[in-house]
Amino acid sequence: MSRFWNDRTKGIQPYVPGEQPEDPSAWVKINTNENPYPPSPRVVEAILSEMGGKQSLSGANLRLYPSAEAAPFLDAVCERYGLKRSQVFAGNGSDEILAFRFMAFWDKNRPVISPAVTYSFYPVYASIFDIPYRAIPMKNDIEVDCDAIAVQKGGVVLANPNAPTSIALPLDDIRRILEAHRDDVVLVDEAYVDYGGESAIGLITEFDNLLVVRTLSKSYSLAGMRIGFAAGNPELIEGLRRMKDSFNSYTIDRLAIVAGAAAILDRDYFDRTREMVLATRERTAEKLRELGFAMPASSTNFLFVTHPEHSAKDIFSFLKEKKILVRHFNTAGIENYLRITIGTDEEMDRLLSVLKEFIVG
Ligand SMILES: *Cc1c(COP(=O)(O)O)cnc(C)c1O
Repeated sequence: MSRFWNDRTKGIQPYVPGEQPEDPSAWVKINTNENPYPPSPRVVEAILSEMGGKQSLSGANLRLYPSAEAAPFLDAVCERYGLKRSQVFAGNGSDEILAFRFMAFWDKNRPVISPAVTYSFYPVYASIFDIPYRAIPMKNDIEVDCDAIAVQKGGVVLANPNAPTSIALPLDDIRRILEAHRDDVVLVDEAYVDYGGESAIGLITEFDNLLVVRTLSKSYSLAGMRIGFAAGNPELIEGLRRMKDSFNSYTIDRLAIVAGAAAILDRDYFDRTREMVLATRERTAEKLRELGFAMPASSTNFLFVTHPEHSAKDIFSFLKEKKILVRHFNTAGIENYLRITIGTDEEMDRLLSVLKEFIVG
């Protein structure tokens, strides 16, 4: 606490991101849902080319401000997802878009509701912008209660598939929530949709209250570049733009813009790495079940596991001693679960052998 802090700074409970060790190569790092594979080779080519090309690499372009509209990146998003420029918005990571979204559409008189177990950044944004936040209890500890969300008043923020539970809601449930909240903005955070969920992007023309947010951090292997985008009705997009241009006009840098465009347009590479993650996920889930773990079917690049005979905390500590980093949340209802990111096959084999040592001895 400092005497220089204002009441807002004193009052906030910042989001606690997953641990990022100083030397990630010393760890099996499967705690923050990063992609185990590098980005498309075209991403590296695009960055080198923006820096002046392999011959000169002068970096002269870095003298110049980037496109305030993240132009080539948003063009690629439109091409890939069949959208118009008036329907898309780019952000420095999807987290930034989420923040703009809370600033632009909700306030003291427009509360927001969200499942009790979800991405823990949502309540942080609500609190920093003084927005009443209602957490709707889960069914069976980990399932989103769509009926309860449909009848509550207020804007809605949902991750679909949900984190950290890995469970996806069918699009019919999203539609039901959108219909029940025609006069409220409904945000669907699709950070993991590429791993098994049904996207709501196709509903944005039908529902002017829908905003879909995506990130390139997970399925496009670009967590280090900080790129996300939103899709929605032009009026919602314009609201986000007004907020951005009152805050920081150039949120996406030149290298991120070209990297994002290259990643989005390399469909083959995207499909190939996604298939590898999905195959590893299914193999790992099966082996974990053989060790006695229980888990919901995952529609994400992680597994949300619990063991009937061992506490999640004990497993977490044992893994950490062995330089394997997974994620444990001290949240009511899910204290006995671990969230395990799908890494390479070798990383999963290491995890499985250490778990076997812990459980079987
Ligand atoms: C990872 C994640 C994000 C953050 O993505 P960035 O684009 O890296 O900011 C947003 N929402 C959920 C649910 C996530 O898991």
